[in-house]
Amino acid sequence: MLKLSLLRILYRNSLWKSSSHPYCLIRNRLASPQHQRNFGGITGTWMSGSAPRESADCVVIGAGVVGLAVARQLAFTGREVLVLDSAPTFGTGTSSRNSEVIHAGIYYPRGSLKAVLCVRGRKLLYKYCSQHGIPHKQIGKLIVATSPSEIPKLADIMNQGIQNGVCGLRFVDGSEAMRMEPELWCEKAVFSPVTGIIDTHALMLSLMGDAENHHATFSFNTAVIGAHMEGNSIHLHTSETKSLESWNEKFMPDPDLILVPKLVINSTGLSAPLLARRFHDLDKGVIPSSFFARGCYFTLSNTKKPPFKQLIYPLPEDGGIGVHVTLDLNGQVKFGPDVEWIDGVDDVSSFLNRFDYSVSISRAERFYPAIRKYYPSLKDGSLEPGYAGIRPKLCGPQQSPMDFVVQGEDLHGIPGLVNLFGIESPGLTSSMAIAEYVVSRYLT
Ligand SMILES: Cc1cc2nc3c(=O)[nH]c(=O)nc-3n(C[C@H](O)[C@H](O)[C@H](O)COP(=O)(O)OP(=O)(O)OC[C@H]3O[C@@H](n4cnc5c(N)ncnc54)[C@H](O)[C@@H]3O)c2cc1C
Repeated sequence: MLKLSLLRILYRNSLWKSSSHPYCLIRNRLASPQHQRNFGGITGTWMSGSAPRESADCVVIGAGVVGLAVARQLAFTGREVLVLDSAPTFGTGTSSRNSEVIHAGIYYPRGSLKAVLCVRGRKLLYKYCSQHGIPHKQIGKLIVATSPSEIPKLADIMNQGIQNGVCGLRFVDGSEAMRMEPELWCEKAVFSPVTGIIDTHALMLSLMGDAENHHATFSFNTAVIGAHMEGNSIHLHTSETKSLESWNEKFMPDPDLILVPKLVINSTGLSAPLLARRFHDLDKGVIPSSFFARGCYFTLSNTKKPPFKQLIYPLPEDGGIGVHVTLDLNGQVKFGPDVEWIDGVDDVSSFLNRFDYSVSISRAERFYPAIRKYYPSLKDGSLEPGYAGIRPKLCGPQQSPMDFVVQGEDLHGIPGLVNLFGIESPGLTSSMAIAEYVVSRYLT
């Protein structure tokens, strides 16, 4: 018997998810002849012994902040956009497990995608937040050297930021920095006035609303499990997420539906290289190795008033930018993230977001000395486990940092496929610029 068609899933999920958006608008859209032609009607052709097929225009895989920004940008060009995510709703991956900082664009090599897209993305993000009432605050940041031996590295960071076109950066003496932040201790600091914080959930909700208002359709609980080529057309294998629950490396579920889109954006964050390896006919030599670096946060307990008004960052460390102080928009103080390399991640676990996000209190022992270098009056017992996120990295421990990888036909030879690999920090800040870049470069 024909498996429950994904077409029905698409239809049902769109209705379910629409509860957070103007209901009648979505209903009208689903009822429109144009929509029914693509998703509402069961029009796929059943192939004997295989899944039904359905053609599509643009498919974005992954509804994190980057996938949502890309979907919005594509929808704005008038293309039909379908967004698939294996999770029950948007933004359940790294996009809801980060520092929520709007970065200036300081640390990255000049001309790299990280540098260019972070600087551009920050400007786009501030403008978008102001225009759409997304909670955010440009609170500024101090990068601090806590020993004389760190000062040359601080100077390098400042120069890097200037080369990247970050405005307003200023070297400040320890005494001035400590006047700005009386709880701080440092030798010298770089002040970045353009750094800020943002409510990422509100941002994602707004991006999704924009995309929907331009006729994008979302299907949650829908995983992409592979792809193959027929002629010049990519065929995406999709499956209900619950079919993956019993999946192991030996028994692959059959796809529920094969989608044949003109353009596919693989924006699956931590899963992106693993998913790309499941695309038959894609040269595996072009897919970078993936590494996973967990970062834990601790919150400050029993504080009536946050000790700092702005963000405080030590110098970057291997794999991350140091256990820093972040404030959220409610004034909650967070310290983190640290760096813990994890391995043995398999495809299914990543598609299902089955990572260990627990924060063990024992990790706090390493936080106290790291934080006390710049916040000496941190009291014993004041750190409580917060949350954890995992960085989708393309380089391992002690290896040189890698840039974002945005890979289209020019690099891998598959028409209509764009892979987004290694979208770690500053991916949130860069999200709208990544979308602009992808659409301007790869939309044909
Ligand atoms: C600890 C930490 C702190 C960070 N702090 C900052 C910061 O302060 N500022 C900043 O700019 N950036 C920061 N980042 C980076 C930022 O969070 C990420 O770059 C950004 O969230 C990536 O978004 P994404 O959409 O690419 O990925 P994700 O948010 O992970 O979204 C990927 C989506 O793909 C879906 N998916 C996965 N596999 C499949 C499949 N097979 N089929 C269908 N769907 C699938 C997932 O369910 C998920 O929803 C931080 C990252 C970490 C880990």
